[in-house]
Amino acid sequence: MDFSIPEEVITYQNIAREFVNSIAIPAEDHYDYEKGRMPEEIIQELRKKAKSMGIWTPHLPKSEGGLGLDMIGTALVFSELGRSPIAPYLCNCDAPDEGNMHLLHVAANAEQKERFYFPLVRGEIRSAFAMTEPPPGAGSDPSSLQTNAVKDGDDYILNGHKWYCTGANGAKFLIVMAKVNDSFRRTSLFLVPTDSPGYTMIQEIPVMGSHGPGGHCELKFENVRVPAENVLGKIAEGFRLSQVRLGPARLTHCMRWIGLARRSIEIARDYAVGRELFGERLADKQGIQWMFAEIGLKIESGFLLTLKAADILNRGGDARQAISLAKWQVSETLQEAIDTAIQICGSHGYSRYMKLELFAKDARAARIADGPSEVHKMVIGRNLISGKASF
Ligand SMILES: Cc1cc2nc3c(=O)[nH]c(=O)nc-3n(C[C@H](O)[C@H](O)[C@H](O)COP(=O)(O)OP(=O)(O)OC[C@H]3O[C@@H](n4cnc5c(N)ncnc54)[C@H](O)[C@@H]3O)c2cc1C
Repeated sequence: MDFSIPEEVITYQNIAREFVNSIAIPAEDHYDYEKGRMPEEIIQELRKKAKSMGIWTPHLPKSEGGLGLDMIGTALVFSELGRSPIAPYLCNCDAPDEGNMHLLHVAANAEQKERFYFPLVRGEIRSAFAMTEPPPGAGSDPSSLQTNAVKDGDDYILNGHKWYCTGANGAKFLIVMAKVNDSFRRTSLFLVPTDSPGYTMIQEIPVMGSHGPGGHCELKFENVRVPAENVLGKIAEGFRLSQVRLGPARLTHCMRWIGLARRSIEIARDYAVGRELFGERLADKQGIQWMFAEIGLKIESGFLLTLKAADILNRGGDARQAISLAKWQVSETLQEAIDTAIQICGSHGYSRYMKLELFAKDARAARIADGPSEVHKMVIGRNLISGKASF
């Protein structure tokens, strides 16, 4: 691995840091705890600022309005933006749109790009990815997929029930994973506009956290007619393409989470340096220094695992083992970092004023969404035992 950072990427890192410190962090004060998200009018104003500062869709090629970063460059910029939970959305690089953009960039044809991809890149619309289903359907084990599309002339008739689809309320289209003619082997991805007859957004499921628009939704598809031109890629490519999306999307989650873990510890550092207790600064107590040291080691290890997986992706290699290692480690570290920061900040850390409470509620999902820790451990262990991955 080459640890040198190109000048251009350092410049982008600095812009991202400036955007977070001067725009995103102050704007967090407008967070609406009742609605569980930022007010829309503020979001739209701040998105204009992100565009004017040149930090819009940083993950995309320059030809499409992005910064032309490779995966390591993306890690460096996303880990800056991740310091504020609202900054990635302000820069149009948050889940699920960021992962959906990546998938459409790779798999959509020219006509699909005009209809779905470019409006997403411009920030005119939002999207969602619908894979997970209520029991007995797909969750940790995608082979339990129930949603089915039946060929009818040139169209497909889609029936199914999905839930926990992030951003679906207000999304313009969904990328839906479904079997075809009840064949699991023919699982495919369909681009479904949300004004399609038969589609219902049943509810935004009330959840513990969430700072993004569109919630985490339960969806129903009842005889939804999807034209063949809305198949993403080819029929039977559903699992291959979902890996194209989910692999890098898990890693970009890690990049943002590293930022939030660092921010939490920065908040704790400011408190520990300013607080006098038992005749000295809280920061001077060895017990507190060891808390910083222990979580610092984990954050740094998680960042290196993330960079390693990014490096493999840059080289076009098989990064699945490295991504599972990073996703497992960083999601657990994020929660531990926030919890450590709350402990160091005492009662004020537990309040909403220090934002750690908001971070903590959001972070709990990290160990579940995009593959629970247990599934990543299963994959890692199996690969090591079978020899698919080496020690
Ligand atoms: C905030 C949030 C956002 C989400 N966004 C989306 C989205 O946009 N689109 C989408 O399709 N899905 C989304 N999901 C769903 C997410 O991907 C699933 O929750 C995840 O895949 C786990 O599936 P499940 O919830 O059905 O849990 P289940 O499959 O029922 O698993 C329950 C638990 O079993 C344990 N477990 C599972 N496998 C094993 C194993 N092999 N060994 C031991 N224990 C195991 C784990 O602890 C797991 O949490 C989201 C979830 C959350 C919480």
